[in-house]
Amino acid sequence: MAALAFDWARQREVLRALATTDGLTGLLNQRAFHERLEREVAGALAAGRPLGLVVIDLDHFKAVNDRYGHAQGDRVLEAVAERLTSVVRATDVAARLGGEEFALILPDAGPASAAATAERARVAIAALTVGARSLTASAGIATCPENGTEAARLLQRADSALYSAKRSGRNRCHPYRGERRTRPADHDRTGTAMNTEGV
Ligand code: GH3
Ligand code: MG
Ligand code: MG
Repeated sequence: MAALAFDWARQREVLRALATTDGLTGLLNQRAFHERLEREVAGALAAGRPLGLVVIDLDHFKAVNDRYGHAQGDRVLEAVAERLTSVVRATDVAARLGGEEFALILPDAGPASAAATAERARVAIAALTVGARSLTASAGIATCPENGTEAARLLQRADSALYSAKRSGRNRCHPYRGERRTRPADHDRTGTAMNTEGV
């Protein structure tokens, strides 16, 4: 009976790991990432500690697939995942949000620390070469509580900073610096004053 119970517990563990892991890279999958981010934000707020969130998107990845094929593109994604895992602390979380987009959840990281980790990730990815070119990535950074105290808001702001990094030329990390006032869709629905600097 004890052996059966052990088997059952192990099977549940294996199923759970499969359900939360991205099949290609072994990183946390998107669904598990959302759950984990909610939990980490709640934990950070309860403990009065900071939390960093970095969203990373590979630059011109479609061209890698077009030139070398989808299978080779997948190998590149695996290599990127390895690099990301190597630049974060054991308590940090690396996830694949889908496609060629990744995220890092950084417990205890304030703005400076989160920016430093994002930059380490960018440099580690740029050290990978595909053919003769270095692979580059852009990143957006948001921190709790400075940029929000809800997971969804933090993610939206990290995404907005990522968009800014892409627009500024790619291969760079941008912290969230407020929304632009020029596009109506960017207006802050909470009605708080908007910072038009930067981004
Ligand atoms: P940008 O610098 O603007 O991000 O350009 P991009 O080409 O990286 O961005 P875009 O979103 O236009 O294309 C992402 C590409 O990523 C599309 C697809 O070819 C590739 N891709 C998405 N998921 C996978 C995957 O699982 N495996 C492989 N090999 N490629 C993928
Ligand atoms: Mg891309
Ligand atoms: Mg993308």
